Amino acid sequence: MSLPVRSLTVLQNWDCQGCTSCCRQYHVSVSAEERKRIEGQGWEAEPDLQGVPFFIHTGGWLSSSYRLNHRPDGACVFLGPDNRCRIHVKHGSAAKPLACRIYPYSLVPAGDHWKLGLRFACPSAVEDKGRPLAEHLAEAREYAAMLEGEAGTSAITIPPPLLQGKQQINWGDLGRIIATISEMFADDIESIERRWRKVLFVVSTLRQAKFDGGGDPQKAIVGSRLSELLEILKDAAEDEVPESPDDVPPPSWVGRMVFRPVAALYARKDTGPDRGSAQSSAFARLFSAMQFARGKGRVPRTHIAIPETTFDAAEKPLDELSDEAESLLARWARVKIESGQFCGPTNFGMLVWDGLESLAVAFAAAMWLTRVLATDGRPQDDAVRMAVRIVDDNFGFNPLLGKGRQKFALGLLGKRGELPKLVAWYGKTKAGFTAEDTEDAE
Ligand code: SF4
Repeated sequence: MSLPVRSLTVLQNWDCQGCTSCCRQYHVSVSAEERKRIEGQGWEAEPDLQGVPFFIHTGGWLSSSYRLNHRPDGACVFLGPDNRCRIHVKHGSAAKPLACRIYPYSLVPAGDHWKLGLRFACPSAVEDKGRPLAEHLAEAREYAAMLEGEAGTSAITIPPPLLQGKQQINWGDLGRIIATISEMFADDIESIERRWRKVLFVVSTLRQAKFDGGGDPQKAIVGSRLSELLEILKDAAEDEVPESPDDVPPPSWVGRMVFRPVAALYARKDTGPDRGSAQSSAFARLFSAMQFARGKGRVPRTHIAIPETTFDAAEKPLDELSDEAESLLARWARVKIESGQFCGPTNFGMLVWDGLESLAVAFAAAMWLTRVLATDGRPQDDAVRMAVRIVDDNFGFNPLLGKGRQKFALGLLGKRGELPKLVAWYGKTKAGFTAEDTEDAE
């Protein structure tokens, strides 16, 4: 019997608004069985599909992988003139490829159940439009059963991700940690920037803990003892973490140099109509990577939404964030954390602490990108929404972020204490900006 799917405590709404962005932006892989099914649906009889290849072979001569073809205007060949999926209209949702059906849900195995999360690359998720996620559980259960069927296994056999090294706790204790961190993000009296620094303080302190009590079960930090520790750390963060981002030193030049190429990976789009001109060829990508490493002159257009602007302009802080922007940034963090999407199989096998820190870097990258997007007069709330969509599209999905080099960069930022500095620097707004900051940025 397939495992149940559980929703999150954070209120997140979603329903498809029919924007068709996903049918234009993504290359959808299809299995041999899906290809056969679609080939048997009689599409060659449709006048405007005659002679149009439905699939593209991917992955070189030896590969047997295929994806759905796209029209010259960038849309999937099956997207009709009325902006509706022809497969869905003619044969129902179940006839579509599984990837199309599941998007933008993310289903994350969590021991004896699945967690239902959401990809904020979808505009409807960012705008919180539709019914609460909890009302989508029946549909999600169907997809979870299909994923289990495809994998030939049950999620119950998957152990919880390690905290770090070989440190393992059980699903219940991991749930305690996740619940505490999500609660910290729910504190909307605090700026999202400081909430992130407080969470980083808790994570860096928990990195020192010996959860197995150094082999002595009496000293093991589990169950209610772990809950107590988490409460103590939450209170300690209130005292230990500077109130103002101005009281946090700016990131060092090493921190910025390591951060910029990571931000570049979060700010890119390589397929579909939103692909940036800096991603058009291998040479353009190499040139853009060099510019990001240098951090001088024009910001390469790694995504079509990036305006003509400079790296210097992106060092200038934003106006104070609106309640709407703060609330979106907190909801984004909570959905990623509560769903477990920040670590394990849905984030390139990252361990728990590394995964949380990678999400902090994604937050800093989103704030950097918001500054870039707002330089051409785009309203700030709109820039925040767009930045979250672009960054989340890459978070856990851009395979370059899962490479050893990127994991090493993340480890370096953590070890050198650069993460809270990056969060404070890119998360601060004009309210907390001083003349010395301008000098520090130069
Ligand atoms: S098959 Fe349908 S749902 Fe999937 S990308 Fe194409 S048009 Fe969109």
